[in-house]
Amino acid sequence: MASADDLRVAVARVMPSVRDDLAALIRIPSVSSDPSASESIRRSAEAVSSLLRAAGLDEVEVLHVEGGHPAVLGRRAGPTGAPTVLLYAHHDVQPAGDLRDWATDPFEPIERDGRLFARGAADDKAGIALHLAALRALDDLDVGVNVLIEGEEEIGSPTLDRLLALHGDRLAADVIVLADSTNWRVGVPALTTSLRGGFNLVVEVRTLRHAVHNGVYGGPVPDALTALARLLATLHDEHGDVAIAGLHRGSADALDLTDEQLRADAGMLDGVRLLGTGTLTSRLWTSPAISVSGIDAPPVETAPMTLTPSARAKLTVRIPPGEDADAAQHAVVAHLHSHAPWGASVTVSAGNPVRPFAARTGGPAYAAARAALAEAWGALPVDAGVGGSINFVRLIAERFPDAEILITGVEDPDTRAHSANESLHLGEFERACLAEALLLARLATAWSDRRENA
Ligand SMILES: [Zn+2]
Repeated sequence: MASADDLRVAVARVMPSVRDDLAALIRIPSVSSDPSASESIRRSAEAVSSLLRAAGLDEVEVLHVEGGHPAVLGRRAGPTGAPTVLLYAHHDVQPAGDLRDWATDPFEPIERDGRLFARGAADDKAGIALHLAALRALDDLDVGVNVLIEGEEEIGSPTLDRLLALHGDRLAADVIVLADSTNWRVGVPALTTSLRGGFNLVVEVRTLRHAVHNGVYGGPVPDALTALARLLATLHDEHGDVAIAGLHRGSADALDLTDEQLRADAGMLDGVRLLGTGTLTSRLWTSPAISVSGIDAPPVETAPMTLTPSARAKLTVRIPPGEDADAAQHAVVAHLHSHAPWGASVTVSAGNPVRPFAARTGGPAYAAARAALAEAWGALPVDAGVGGSINFVRLIAERFPDAEILITGVEDPDTRAHSANESLHLGEFERACLAEALLLARLATAWSDRRENA
């Protein structure tokens, strides 16, 4: 088995070629939300498939489900009895947005202060480059490797469930490495171990059959917008915690996230208070959250002098791992009906809930991944959560329920994925490549040890 030092040298040796290939991928503007970019996405998929073939995978194929963007699959069988690892990344990117916000051309990578700036430099073309680096650095592999490079992650993976239904047998694995997340900060690696689920709903409040003069009727007759405001005000208690009966909350390692850091990251105004109780990480990752994301009401500019008969709001509800998504949705809907102010009529329409995700972190692949990250960084990895949902994680976890799922990544808090001036920290990138090479090199041993101890 290669020593960590040998692998460190091997990763450093392949880094220039990996950087060149990453640059070439970045120069293809594979923006999946842009209908006019389908030719670029096709070229991007072809480029990825050539790189996978050159990295020694066979059965490389560009696949494309009706109505979706092309994904690239590849595989290389391992020795009999060896575990199989599925490596995931995505080759599509977010649009560049307003070019005036970029210091340089978003699709021409440029290095500055140890970071590589471009759209997709991190999210997630670096995820592809990470897998290539690990495969290139290892002469022999004693695990089987399957690769899935998706082409529509940035638009919510609309055809991934069908792709997995049609071709999932070729991707089946004991261990799945999803390289599309973030490390805790520069110098501290992380595994993302939980994602909140959630749903949207629209609540409509009606108080009148029609609008009436607010001078003639105002006072005893309620308007719907005030009633809606009172209903929305019942969603949180006086501390700012979600006040829906029946919703659960869990706990998360507090790590070293401070009020000051979170306030700065979120751009909170001076004097505005943080909401809720418990550690910040538990409020962000393992507690429910409800926000009002839109309201339909007469616009201020042209508001008539009437009592408004109806008003509606769109709510975004986040639910933590461990929560039953359907039960949570029922609880919120029941709360809205039972808290209708002044006997107002309340109707609620809710979208399909997305289930939360919690990784099983007690298996041999987790132990091997933690050891690999610690060795590559010289710092212990943390378990981190994500407050939002990531559709592909849920779809892959549901398709391969027995696999150990490792959510890794190359990002750091300054990456600015999806924003202008996205960038990749090149030192962190090389450490991530070494960690994945170490993981692939040691997984077979971790597996056979487990079998002997079983
Ligand atoms: Zn991504």
